[in-house]
Amino acid sequence: MKYLACPVCGRPADNLIDGRCKDCFLKTFTLARIPHIVRTIICPLCGSVKKGGHWEGNTAELEDVIQEGIKEALKLEPDAGDVQVSIDLTNSDPSIYHAGIRVNANVKGIRTKATLKTEVRVSRETCDTCSRISGGYYEAVVQVRAEGRFPDEEEQVQLVELIEELIERQYRKGYRLAFITKIDELPEGTDVYIGSNSSARQACKLAAERYGCSYSESPTLVGKKDGKDIYRITYSLRLPRFVPGDIINTGGDAVLIRHSGKRTTGLLLGSGLEFSENTNRLKNAVKIADMEDAVDAVLVSVEDDIVQVMHPTTFRPVTLKKPAHLSGRGGEDIRIVVISDEIFILPPNQENE
Ligand SMILES: [Zn+2]
Ligand SMILES: [Zn+2]
Repeated sequence: MKYLACPVCGRPADNLIDGRCKDCFLKTFTLARIPHIVRTIICPLCGSVKKGGHWEGNTAELEDVIQEGIKEALKLEPDAGDVQVSIDLTNSDPSIYHAGIRVNANVKGIRTKATLKTEVRVSRETCDTCSRISGGYYEAVVQVRAEGRFPDEEEQVQLVELIEELIERQYRKGYRLAFITKIDELPEGTDVYIGSNSSARQACKLAAERYGCSYSESPTLVGKKDGKDIYRITYSLRLPRFVPGDIINTGGDAVLIRHSGKRTTGLLLGSGLEFSENTNRLKNAVKIADMEDAVDAVLVSVEDDIVQVMHPTTFRPVTLKKPAHLSGRGGEDIRIVVISDEIFILPPNQENE
């Protein structure tokens, strides 16, 4: 074997690293350093953790947050590879933790380790989001309404849930302004106050896609910040005017609504043909009845395309053109609606839809 001497200490060495023996090489760097005190700032209300100047949402346990903070504060020799860090935490006080840290790594082929100590001081500070929520901060209000009517409770719950789910998804992705400040239930609908205007707008877009809602926005000037005007935006989110089960008159035809969204579809009660129209084009349509007006009547006879129905109040037979959706035979009971003394035959099982 070739005989080598370390040029630094003069002792014999099997091989040289960076021109020195292993012991002398290990003295040329410090594997790991950590400040004497590491600070962890946590929001007592939501558990978010402050990192540098900003807050990050967090669901981990406090000890895991502290471990994470220690790892972030640890400065390692840049050539260190295959690094293993283990941390022992002890605490005498909920705000002060003592950490024993062992670092194991490979530097230029030499396995080396270091032991360090630090003190972690945990302080509790209300985060940006929680202080905004408690201060009533909001950038936008989404007013859940319906076109030309009051939305029913189920519709309001559906839309509020859609907003809540969207906001929660955004918050989990780290969007700190995605929160709901308050929800007001009013006779005409529900008002949802939202931390972020862009979240509010996205919620409205989603409601338009999913439920055929329309929306408009109106800004209100609320002040100035750094010379820029600050606006609050009110979104008027409106559910479609007609709901499934409504019977409307559009252009002289009675239509039983089955779906209401960007398009409105249903059944032409006179003929039994399918109806489909862009909802925007139904501005002049009016609701003339709904399923609560349905009554039983006797189908007297069916002959080719002519039927006779016994009028439920005058008991006189009324002759009608047979609509495509009628499948009953003479003598059977059917469901009908009477609108301005005109009889319309309903399709079977309409109430279950
Ligand atoms: Zn040496
Ligand atoms: Zn918080």
